[in-house]
Amino acid sequence: MSIQALLKRQLPQFSLAQVQTLTSQLYGIEGEYREVVSERDLSWLIKQSSGETVVLKISNAIEVEGIVDFQVKALQHIAERDPSVPVPHMIATKSGKLFDWITADDGTAHMIRILSFLEGDVVYDTPAAHNSTTRYNAGALVGKLAKALGNFFHPHARSNIHLWDISRALDLRPHIDDIEDLDLRTLCRDILERAESFTLPKLKSTRWQVVHQDAHSGNMLVDPNNAFLPTGIIDFGDMGYNSIVAEVVEAADSFSLEDDDLLANLCEVTAGFDSSYPLEENEIDLIYDALLLQYAVGSIVVGSRLIHDQEDNVHVEDADKYGIILKRLNQHGREQGIRRLREACRFPVYSPREADDEIFDEHYDELLEKRENKLGPIWHFYNKAMRFTRAKGGWMYAADGTAYLDSYNNVPQIGHSHPHVVKAIARQAAVLNTNTRYVCDIVADYAERLTAELPDHLDTCIFVNSGSEANDLAMQIAKALSGNQGGLVLNMAYHGCTELSAKMSHDSWAHLPPEQWPQDIEPLMVPDTYRGPYAGDLEAGEKYAADMDRAITALAQRGHKPAAFMVDTAMCAHGLTEVPDNYFNLTAEKTRAAGGYMIADEVQAGCGRMGTFWGYRAAGLDHANVDFITMGKPVGNAHPLGVIILSSKMMLQFLNGSSPMLFSTFGGNSVACAAGMAVLDVIEREGLIEKSNRVGDYLRAKLSKLAEKHSIIGDIRGRGILTGVEFVSCRKAKTPASAETDVLIEAMLARRVMVGKGADNVLKLRPSMAWDETEVDFFIAALGDSLEAIAAGR
Ligand code: PMP
Repeated sequence: MSIQALLKRQLPQFSLAQVQTLTSQLYGIEGEYREVVSERDLSWLIKQSSGETVVLKISNAIEVEGIVDFQVKALQHIAERDPSVPVPHMIATKSGKLFDWITADDGTAHMIRILSFLEGDVVYDTPAAHNSTTRYNAGALVGKLAKALGNFFHPHARSNIHLWDISRALDLRPHIDDIEDLDLRTLCRDILERAESFTLPKLKSTRWQVVHQDAHSGNMLVDPNNAFLPTGIIDFGDMGYNSIVAEVVEAADSFSLEDDDLLANLCEVTAGFDSSYPLEENEIDLIYDALLLQYAVGSIVVGSRLIHDQEDNVHVEDADKYGIILKRLNQHGREQGIRRLREACRFPVYSPREADDEIFDEHYDELLEKRENKLGPIWHFYNKAMRFTRAKGGWMYAADGTAYLDSYNNVPQIGHSHPHVVKAIARQAAVLNTNTRYVCDIVADYAERLTAELPDHLDTCIFVNSGSEANDLAMQIAKALSGNQGGLVLNMAYHGCTELSAKMSHDSWAHLPPEQWPQDIEPLMVPDTYRGPYAGDLEAGEKYAADMDRAITALAQRGHKPAAFMVDTAMCAHGLTEVPDNYFNLTAEKTRAAGGYMIADEVQAGCGRMGTFWGYRAAGLDHANVDFITMGKPVGNAHPLGVIILSSKMMLQFLNGSSPMLFSTFGGNSVACAAGMAVLDVIEREGLIEKSNRVGDYLRAKLSKLAEKHSIIGDIRGRGILTGVEFVSCRKAKTPASAETDVLIEAMLARRVMVGKGADNVLKLRPSMAWDETEVDFFIAALGDSLEAIAAGR
């Protein structure tokens, strides 16, 4: 069917008397007739003597049989799939047909059909329905309808060509000059040009299905006694196979010239639609463009009708409206349109995905100021704080779309936004998120799986929400069970931000005057094999461990015995120091001999990063010497989850002692456990532990090659994918090259690599296990380049 043919209405030619006779013969239906204006069909309301009203439709002569069949079957499908969607149902002829053929006096054949009549006031004509609640509810109903049509198929679904179909907007190009208003004509031309290069190609990547395509306020009914409540969607004449986006923008067409915030109307309808039929990211970002296109189409159709078909007044009576609204919508601009639509549906902030996506990064200064004002002057990485809007696998994407390789990666160890974890979180959140006071499958299953490979004395989990909480509680239990109050930690260790875990973090109070140091905590010398006093000593393990005797004595002099030695065996706070193999076992034995417990803080070391699931094993600490394992960060791959693993016997003792009510509201909530479970799935399915070793070895080999050229690299160390690179200005004297390290970190950023430091002169590389050799190569190229630039004083 050509656009030319569609532009002319050519209504079927039947007199009322003829129609009445035919209807009586075919359907046995009689009553009072009232004609209804329709764009291409003839339509009447027939009020029968029973009081029931039906709608009679006679199709335009150019209508194709398959298309009527398509509409009829679609209505049947909706009724079957979701009977709560209020749409008309078909009334069959006496001989059981859902439509039949009739002939006009001029010999043309037409299809006739009857549908039930839906009660309600048309939103367009009902001022009380022009409000945000009704718009949201109407959007939600259109979403429900689209969902019901989601799996409907008909061979004629794409043959229902009609003028208002934005996916065919370019067919209207020859008619742009019919628009009289020159500004509007130019605007429509620009929009069609953009449609050709952007909107329509993007529309192709959205979800397509059969959609109503005409659910605007003129085809939406509301309850006469409650204008907030939509009661029906009518007129399936424009239904066809199209993008979901086309459905949303058509449903949003409820604008009136009195509305002062058109985007608000659009957002309300879209949010309603999204509530019942969730939109995808590429769809929400296209709605604003699609709406402009729809109004450009409207402006062209009306402009053309005004010139060529003056007697047909459909969509012509408010001829100026399309142009006025289009111009006003256009003034908002795409950035504002996208931002508000995203906010309305709670999509995260816009982030460019492809090279040709627009960049909206104008609010950086404003955002930075807001952060400062509302979060306080908290520390940020880099001279200029980075603003990220997206991350995937080993990469993070800045608001301007630039991809940065994340070797800082402190938390999402199996890769940013891992789709399996994301899905598990969403699926569990959609069904149940509750606490450990109830019996829930996921929490018990997760605890069982997490401890499956651990020895019997590490068989019980307590769930909390962070590494700090895990360490805090582990320490509380250690104190309660040992009866001791003292704590042993490494010099400059970090274990958290709660009162007790901060006390166990020498790093958090080392800067204070000695009289303010906690009397019940004693830090130990760092067992450093590269630059410590026993570096290179074959008995370094014993010698460093001997410092624990000093520490225990020091505690005793202050009236304390150790409740625990808490240690991060990855040595993250120290620059991933290489520790003598026997050090941790020796210190664990000494701690126990003094009546304390050994707490392996796996917040950094755990979940495979060190090449074994439990990092302390890689560091040489035997299972048998561990009393508590504490976990955080990677265990939920960035979803807040903390775990303490201990023996059931100790747990019982603690509960029977001081803490019978032990409980954390969010600790072990169903969603956090789903995240934890999904992390374990991924580590297993993707063979990440093996990969952590393979990629880590490759990284260290490449670093060693670089070290041949750059004497600033003093030491390369690490296990699994966790790798430390220590910089020195003199290899022999091992003089820390701290200033150069700072310069290097910024130089790496300029080369799109993010990296953090452990000590002042150590790059602490914690790549996610999503890294492959490709990422390593990118990293090494950036490091080589940065080192050369620094050496050359650039
Ligand atoms: N332990 C270690 C070893 C850590 O590195 C950290 C955090 N940097 C914590 C505990 C505290 O974890 P959270 O920030 O989740 O409380």
